[in-house]
Amino acid sequence: MVTHAFSVDLEDWFQGIDMPVDAWPSQPDRLDHGLDVLLGLLDDAEVLATFFVLGWVAEHRPDIVRRLASAGHEIGSHGECHEKLYDLDRDRFRASEADVKARLEDLSGVAVRGFRAPFFSLTLDSLWACDVLPELGYQYDCSISPVVTWRYGIEGAPEGLFRLENGLLEFTVSTWSLAGRRLGSGGAYLRLFPQILTRRPFVRGDRSGESAMFYVHPWEFDPDHPNVQMERKARFTHYQNLRVTAKRTARLLSRHRFGTIGTTIKEAERSDTIPRVSLDALKVREA
Ligand SMILES: [Zn+2]
Repeated sequence: MVTHAFSVDLEDWFQGIDMPVDAWPSQPDRLDHGLDVLLGLLDDAEVLATFFVLGWVAEHRPDIVRRLASAGHEIGSHGECHEKLYDLDRDRFRASEADVKARLEDLSGVAVRGFRAPFFSLTLDSLWACDVLPELGYQYDCSISPVVTWRYGIEGAPEGLFRLENGLLEFTVSTWSLAGRRLGSGGAYLRLFPQILTRRPFVRGDRSGESAMFYVHPWEFDPDHPNVQMERKARFTHYQNLRVTAKRTARLLSRHRFGTIGTTIKEAERSDTIPRVSLDALKVREA
């Protein structure tokens, strides 16, 4: 049975919205509320996950990184302050990401090999990140979404785990289709659509032997976190149906095999099933 990837973007509720960084320190810290629920579910299912930790969280809550690493979970990076890659440039990203990686390795005591950009913001406007990540020592990236939204996505991007010509592994958001539209299988999609639909990539993967990607955030397990004003489309995906996250995650964990992204990569390498994709193939819809 194939192992699917269970990934967590480790950030507090106010970091998953477009709130300016200087407002963060005055917000109520709710990270433990959702994280405790999520870790309870993972413990019950005896599943290890990959946690993409925000650099800001690692700085302010180093105890959490140590706790996750000592429990055996894989630690990856979610960037410094939740800035979208397409709002940065190559040099600023390289400098801040080198710091985050060093901080996470210091706290966890292990090499950090994986990265996920905030808001899946590796798009056609920030493909330079695919060059910078291996320079920093990253082996894999999980920042590309073949699902296109107002905030992220690369139309027509290949799906699943593949290797770019520079050696960087990409593991994208897993998708399913409804009325010709591609949709995702974690986060808001898990909460907004019936689970019979969002489970499709995992059911498909169990048949084909290819891992699918699940992702979720601690604040999605904390329905009582503060409700703040924001534009309507962001508000809907952030707050809608938070009370179903735990139940649906537990159900998913009980029906499919999950593990860290590192585990899914090892399995795919062993079976020699990782396709090669050129960066140009990602730009296919640009013309
Ligand atoms: Zn995030």
